[in-house]
Amino acid sequence: MNSNFLQTPIVYLKGVGPNRAELLRSELGIESFQDLLQLYPNRYLDKTQYYKIAQLKDSGADVQILGKIVHLKTIEQKRGKRLVASFVDDTGQMELVWFRGQKWIKENIKLNEPYVIFGRINRYGGTFSMPHPEMELLKAHQAGLKISMQPIYPSTEKLSNSGITNRVVSKLIEQLFLETKANFEETLPQELISELQLISKADALLNIHFPKSQGLLAKAQFRLKFEELFYVQLQLLNKKAVRKQKIKGLAFDQVGNTFNDFFQNHLPFQLTNAQKRVIKEIRNDLGSSAQMNRLLQGDVGSGKTIVALMCMLLAIDNGYQACLMAPTEILANQHFNGLKELLGEMDITIEILTGSVKKAVRKGIHERLENGGLNILVGTHALLEDKVQFKNLGLAVIDEQHRFGVAQRSKLWRKNQVPPHILVMTATPIPRTLAMSLYGDLDISVIDELPPGRKPIKTVHRYDANRLKVFQFIKDEIKKGRQVYIVYPLIQESEALDYKDLMDGYESIARDFPLPDYQISIVHGKMKAEDKDYEMERFVKGKTQIMVATTVIEVGVNVPNASVMIIESAERFGLSQLHQLRGRVGRGAEQSFCILMTSHKLSSDAKTRLETMVRTNDGFEIAEVDLKLRGPGDLMGTQQSGLLNLKIADIVKDNQILKSARYYAITLLKEDPKMAKQENSSIRQAYINLTKDKAIWGYIS
Ligand code: ADP
Ligand code: MG
Repeated sequence: MNSNFLQTPIVYLKGVGPNRAELLRSELGIESFQDLLQLYPNRYLDKTQYYKIAQLKDSGADVQILGKIVHLKTIEQKRGKRLVASFVDDTGQMELVWFRGQKWIKENIKLNEPYVIFGRINRYGGTFSMPHPEMELLKAHQAGLKISMQPIYPSTEKLSNSGITNRVVSKLIEQLFLETKANFEETLPQELISELQLISKADALLNIHFPKSQGLLAKAQFRLKFEELFYVQLQLLNKKAVRKQKIKGLAFDQVGNTFNDFFQNHLPFQLTNAQKRVIKEIRNDLGSSAQMNRLLQGDVGSGKTIVALMCMLLAIDNGYQACLMAPTEILANQHFNGLKELLGEMDITIEILTGSVKKAVRKGIHERLENGGLNILVGTHALLEDKVQFKNLGLAVIDEQHRFGVAQRSKLWRKNQVPPHILVMTATPIPRTLAMSLYGDLDISVIDELPPGRKPIKTVHRYDANRLKVFQFIKDEIKKGRQVYIVYPLIQESEALDYKDLMDGYESIARDFPLPDYQISIVHGKMKAEDKDYEMERFVKGKTQIMVATTVIEVGVNVPNASVMIIESAERFGLSQLHQLRGRVGRGAEQSFCILMTSHKLSSDAKTRLETMVRTNDGFEIAEVDLKLRGPGDLMGTQQSGLLNLKIADIVKDNQILKSARYYAITLLKEDPKMAKQENSSIRQAYINLTKDKAIWGYIS
């Protein structure tokens, strides 16, 4: 059946008509035959199996059971009556329950006759019950048509109220199969199909809607998931290829004096293998003539800063300037100081530009930027202002990208005739699965190794009731010369209350940790920048032992002597935030600790978050759990991407299929970048159909 036929508006399908067409469009986004064909069932009722009552295990399962009703009674309740049947087989007894239609049941049901029942079971104590079962006398059941796996389609209240029930949807799809004679075009090349032992497209569509068995259903699902992910990957990879061809970059072909001098004389430690590998990857990009757009992922403390610096030195060696942009003023300052220290006596000029830099100083910076007197500029959003003009910006490093949008990134681009190379650093590990589907068009480097000698942070969960013990622990650590963070949540919707908690907390800490033995800093978002800096500075210099803060300190702050992180109301933080906060400690040689304080009231998601934190320090593992808990929709950038509007695959659960789809997409494009070969014509055709309205295709053909 050719693809044009499948574009036929749904209104022309027998059994649809204008009213239903409108409902299908507004409720499920179905406009064409094709859309209906791709309305895949959410789940299936398995009527291939018969359960014994003694075999029942989980609440919520849909099961089919053969047995008899031996007794029927009505139970009066506050909110109306319910009818309860005692249902038995040769292994046990359970209850069937009706809240509606009781009269009809009472009049029609036959006691002590064999019935086949089907429905969802609940468990109360040791007894199972099934509300509103589907029931059929065994005789009728045996005579009837066998549907083995019954598909359940996505639906809405409005649809079922308008009579478009699951049965009706099923019928419409059946009609579609009749009209098309189930003759659907293959969309994957034969070679791939045999290599992966996939079933054909036509068989897959048939079995996803009308599965003949569990086995065929699984094959159908696999085939359709693979295909979906394969085409998503093809699109992403193509986008990247197009970017590389279209956008000329600045070629940094020199590895010159400053880079070599730094490497030989100023490197304060041995680079880890991961750092070396990443620098090499970046150098390859910078040396080619394509513009670099690279995401550098590395867990907190993995040493991204030095990588960024060495790349900036490459830019300088090739006669260009570099900038580093950070999301907060504190972080920009810290980067500035850190970089200056690393550069030491080297002949490199570096300045910082933030909102609080005085006008006169600012003017000087602008001038030196424009006349090339300045090599490196560190700063906040202030760098994006139009007044900030570089002589020749070659590399822009952006730290913690999730705080900057794509629009801001493109502003940086425009600061040069030829767009500068862009290196985005993030410590929020994006699960590899997601990174592949989401940032498939960016290059990704990963520092997956921490500098040597780090002791894993010990994480525990404590209830508020144990606060005194926790305070004693803090005192012991301070006695050993350590410093401590105590962090409070600050969430926009509950800001006023959160500030109160913070201030209450601060007061109680001040009481328990009195002057002059203990010095306490406090930093939060309502303070003036200079007060914040002052307090921060005192903590960094070791003048205060305790830093009470909101999540201002979440990103990047580096105080190696701080070895204890207390997180108050930890149940209110998301996983990635908890992990970021924990990353503030464990930066020195000492054993570090993270204590998650909560009340006893914990949701099951909160429990999972806390358990995950206690179990592992691995940012990627944490990110995977986070993704499972929140779903990809919540993660940064995914809403815009649209690529995650998957119809059947799930990038978390189908991780393995995703990997294989990506592998085959890469292989295909390597062998046939324009998908021009005869054996790939089916792919090319399917690709064109998919990307019809998208500009991408123009570049390839
Ligand atoms: P992040 O990736 O979180 O930005 P940083 O770049 O701030 O990490 O590095 C964290 C700490 O580790 C810094 O104190 C830095 O000097 C140190 N560091 C980085 N790389 C190494 C290394 N190869 N060996 C030893 N220490 C390192
Ligand atoms: Mg950092």
